[in-house]
Amino acid sequence: MPLAPGVRRIVAGNAGLMTGPGTNTYLLGHREVAVLDPGPDDARHLDAILAAAGPAIRWIIVTHTHPDHSPLTRRLAAHSGARVIGLPPPDDGRQDATFAPQHLPFDGESLSLDDCLLTAIHTPGHASNCVCYLLAGERLLFTGDHVLEGVSPVILPPDGDMSAYLLSLEKLQSHDFERIAPGHGGLMESGKAVLAELRTHRLNREEKVLRALRQLIAATLDELTAVVYDDVAVERHRWARLTLTAHLIKLAREHRAGEHDGLWRLIQS
Ligand SMILES: [Zn+2]
Repeated sequence: MPLAPGVRRIVAGNAGLMTGPGTNTYLLGHREVAVLDPGPDDARHLDAILAAAGPAIRWIIVTHTHPDHSPLTRRLAAHSGARVIGLPPPDDGRQDATFAPQHLPFDGESLSLDDCLLTAIHTPGHASNCVCYLLAGERLLFTGDHVLEGVSPVILPPDGDMSAYLLSLEKLQSHDFERIAPGHGGLMESGKAVLAELRTHRLNREEKVLRALRQLIAATLDELTAVVYDDVAVERHRWARLTLTAHLIKLAREHRAGEHDGLWRLIQS
């Protein structure tokens, strides 16, 4: 699907609770193509990418190494000989351990592809090795799972980090872009407003954690999840628990909450 001049999208067939309509694989360029987030190791998706860009593929670029974003890299690189760009997987048991980049983009690095420039911006939070990529000419920001359409990304501690996530949201505000191309879901207009809303959403959730702790006095993670995520469907609570843990780790680091024997309490200052 064409999205902007020189930008196409192919959606992987891995739709689900956590992947929405499926992982977005973006193809950048025509004569020479960069594949951004090849997606899961799926033969049909590999065929679709090769059919769309085959011999033109020069680069494979990944936003992070969760299993729905990078595992197809190995087979796609073997087929195309493309140069693999991204940050290596952290060792938290949730990553694609097969991902072996040949180039590690530094924060602010401009990668020149075909006839365009793509700037790498480190955005730890959802995972520690998250990188967003800005296609300056189109003012289009590829966010991987740092920003998603319609849902707020799960933060998976200890590799995922809520304090880092909030800082990364703020950091992106200083870059010049208009639209966001997320890792799952459609293009989003007014990208800066989307970032501001996400930050507000997270801070409101943090307020809700503090209110729940005030009300429950001492509570287990499960008791807190039920109260703090009473607006979220129960089948999502398994994931909400992880983001709640990320909130609690942040509050503990700020000496605003503490845990003892499995019970969380407010720390009165
Ligand atoms: Zn992810």
